[in-house]
Amino acid sequence: PGTFTHEFDTPVFKGKSNFSTGLLIGGQFVDGSEGKTIDVINPATGKVITSISEGGPKDVDLAVKAAQKAFDTAWGLNTPGFKRGALLNKLADLMQAHFDELAALEALDNGKTFSWATTVDVPESIACIRYYAGWADKVHGQTIETTDDKLIYTRHEPIGVVGQIIPWNFPLMMLSWKIGPALATGNTIVLKPSEFTPLTALLMAELITEAGFPPGVVNIVNGYGHVVGSAISSHMDIEKVAFTGSTLVGRKIMESAAQSNLKNVTLELGGKSPNIIFNDADIEQAVNWAAHGIFWNHGQACCAGSRIFVQSGIYDEFLKRFTEKAKSLKVGSPFDKDSYQGPQVSQIQYDRIMGYIDSGKSEGATVHLGGERIGTEGYFIAPTIFTDTKPDMRIVKEEIFGPVGVVIKFEDEDDVIHKANDTMYGLAAAVFSQNINRALGTAHKLRAGTAWVNCVNMIHTNVPFGGFKQSGIGRELGEYALENYTAVKAVHVNLGIKL
Ligand code: NAD
Repeated sequence: PGTFTHEFDTPVFKGKSNFSTGLLIGGQFVDGSEGKTIDVINPATGKVITSISEGGPKDVDLAVKAAQKAFDTAWGLNTPGFKRGALLNKLADLMQAHFDELAALEALDNGKTFSWATTVDVPESIACIRYYAGWADKVHGQTIETTDDKLIYTRHEPIGVVGQIIPWNFPLMMLSWKIGPALATGNTIVLKPSEFTPLTALLMAELITEAGFPPGVVNIVNGYGHVVGSAISSHMDIEKVAFTGSTLVGRKIMESAAQSNLKNVTLELGGKSPNIIFNDADIEQAVNWAAHGIFWNHGQACCAGSRIFVQSGIYDEFLKRFTEKAKSLKVGSPFDKDSYQGPQVSQIQYDRIMGYIDSGKSEGATVHLGGERIGTEGYFIAPTIFTDTKPDMRIVKEEIFGPVGVVIKFEDEDDVIHKANDTMYGLAAAVFSQNINRALGTAHKLRAGTAWVNCVNMIHTNVPFGGFKQSGIGRELGEYALENYTAVKAVHVNLGIKL
């Protein structure tokens, strides 16, 4: 397989990156069995950065066999928890040693800014791996009292070979959220990164090997969703699939799981998160958080606060200040120290977002700010605010996944809760108020897996994250995620019952 060699010479990072672009199968870097490659594009320029090996169904088969062998001989029930934890900690140490390189690769490949990658993506990923390293020797069952002539206990056993399919918006963080709990609990992995952002996963493949995980414990098969992703979700020897991505593809994953071997499924899907700002909010803070909610990561966040509901008493003042704030956010090179927002990830996403902006215009909403491309190369879109929307407009109902927010005026508390919940999604929701009863009362009534009070986009590795309704099934992070990767076995021991 090929090698990616890159000299970063940027205002924020100077250094070299060098790693294999092959698939990681059974501890070896190999070419895809069909010999094909995928071009990796720099979203800031639209130009090719490198090309990587492309996997196919045959490679998924080989990866599953390697993972099964590792599970049966070197991992699973064969390696005690403390040893798994030590390896995860070693991996976290190696990630720390490659901290800036990981951030720079994320900026180059995904377009997120280096400064955000160093404040969120890389540290959160390392924290996640360390957190699950800590769990590795603390997962255990219960003894259950029934009658004195029986001893009954449960074991939380690893599931076996698990498939993991991740998106492009937080490539390193999604990989870490997936592999951390799966490895801590003793499973072996076949993981597919997004075809748009494979670079940090490839460096991680090297670090996983260097850390000393036995061959086959983690297999990384790059490739397209409908080929490699679909081969994973329909594989007869993969016992569980964990997916993060769109609701549309999540549905396909569940269908393939049902039609193949009824594999266990967890899904982290899309959102159209409401952000409710009451008259009694701290307006300056609400403005800052609301801007962060929709413009951070260029709006490419599953929990982006894309529907901003503002109570009538402060609507005009909020809109004025929110507009000023949005105008002040610098859009530019991911490697510029002052950039808040970089390019969207791909031409496809750029076209999709511009299509939504056009639909908002043609359906009669007002483009209050932005709505256009920035520059002539790359996929940069100006922070965009729509007003004068109607509930059935596409920009109000559908996930845009770009820096496009709608600001909606409301009068009454019950009415806004009804409107906020009027969506097929339920990933996250936020409320801003300085009245604790109103803030918590509203937070409890919102149908979402995460409710933020006087903040947005807060995640923590110790805290469960996931969706209500069509935003997903199951919870990642925290102790809750361990359940996704363990099968409970009940053992009944007869202490004297005679037949
Ligand atoms: P996507 O659904 O297009 O792709 C996600 C992954 O699935 C990619 O690796 C892709 O190659 C693969 N895939 C595509 N078609 C497939 C198929 N038929 N079978 C199996 N795999 C297939 O999503 P995306 O565009 O990469 O990411 C954006 C979406 O992800 C948004 O909807 C966003 O809300 C969601 N997301 C959710 C969370 C969360 O935690 N809830 C986090 C990040 C992103």
